[in-house]
Amino acid sequence: MIGLSAARALRDDGFAVTVYEQHSVGTRLGSSPGRSRIYRTSYRHDDYCRLARRAIDEWMRLDPALLLRNGLLEHGRGVDQHAAVLERCGEQYSWLEPAEAERLFPEARFSGPVLWTPDAGAVLADDALARLRLGVEVVEGARIADPSQLEADAVVVCPGSWLSRLYDLPVYGQIEQVCFFRGAPDSRPSLVDHGGERDDRFWYGVVSPGVGYKAAQDGARKGPFDPDRRDRPVLSEVVDDLRGHVAEALPGLIPEPVHQEACLYTVTPDGDFILDQIDGVVVCGGDSGHAFKFGPLLGRLCADLAQGRPLPPECDRFRADRFAKAVT
Ligand SMILES: Cc1cc2nc3c(=O)[nH]c(=O)nc-3n(C[C@H](O)[C@H](O)[C@H](O)COP(=O)(O)OP(=O)(O)OC[C@H]3O[C@@H](n4cnc5c(N)ncnc54)[C@H](O)[C@@H]3O)c2cc1C
Repeated sequence: MIGLSAARALRDDGFAVTVYEQHSVGTRLGSSPGRSRIYRTSYRHDDYCRLARRAIDEWMRLDPALLLRNGLLEHGRGVDQHAAVLERCGEQYSWLEPAEAERLFPEARFSGPVLWTPDAGAVLADDALARLRLGVEVVEGARIADPSQLEADAVVVCPGSWLSRLYDLPVYGQIEQVCFFRGAPDSRPSLVDHGGERDDRFWYGVVSPGVGYKAAQDGARKGPFDPDRRDRPVLSEVVDDLRGHVAEALPGLIPEPVHQEACLYTVTPDGDFILDQIDGVVVCGGDSGHAFKFGPLLGRLCADLAQGRPLPPECDRFRADRFAKAVT
């Protein structure tokens, strides 16, 4: 996602661009395949909220049809902090009673106040990759061992979970497992349940047109997973937990998944992305499971950095030297 977005931004700036991909675009071994991802401006930090707004502008420029503006219903721990961020950043939001939220999502059940953001919903992920790829030269099956050896005016490296194979950064790939359930139309909002005292797990859901309603527990299996493994396993315990959660929180869905899949997050110690120059090339990654929505913006920012343009102040948190600072 990020690599193709950077390629497109550089192409828009007049460069002749070549993308090298070790497998194929949208490989199921990477982080970007699938029908959909959540997009939202609701975040715990103003920086992400502002960047998400700029990302929506980039999506609209790319193709408004890639965003399904179904809205987002959020509840659980820390959601009031999200509301404060939305307020400071001038984003539209409102608080709903459980019954009002259930009118927007009749197959779901809520027990407390729910935060509603209307400009949120789903990004059509596979469609976005296909759209970004149009007109960009891609060489598939080409694994780059040392990006600094490429002959080019600018090199941008966006290797997803292979980031720590190329750079000495404290990041790792982590498997994320999702299931798809039938029973809700494709117009339903996205969901984030931040957990609470009774259950501190973080759950999310989003429509996946043609497949079902996608639901998952974020980070159900924490810890490193070797990205060079050829499998992306879905554990039956994770599916069982999810089935139980769906029966309780989304009782209008059929709790037996129609499809299940897994792909990788690239986890950083603080959950923030990496966007910086290292050894003379632009490096972007460390998506920590939430970068798809920012894709076209991160691509634009990679292109800017490659051409010596300053990044917005919100990107200070993405500097690679923050890890070195943390240990000294
Ligand atoms: C199950 C799941 C749910 C998610 N849900 C959301 C969500 O709701 N909202 C959201 O915003 N984000 C979400 N994300 C995160 C989002 O999908 C990722 O942040 C995003 O796809 C990361 O894209 P990327 O380009 O960094 O990585 P990738 O898509 O993995 O791309 C990196 C590519 O680089 C290639 N590569 C690596 N090394 C080399 C090399 N040396 N030479 C050549 N090629 C190389 C790889 O093969 C790979 O194709 C989710 C992720 C997962 C797995």
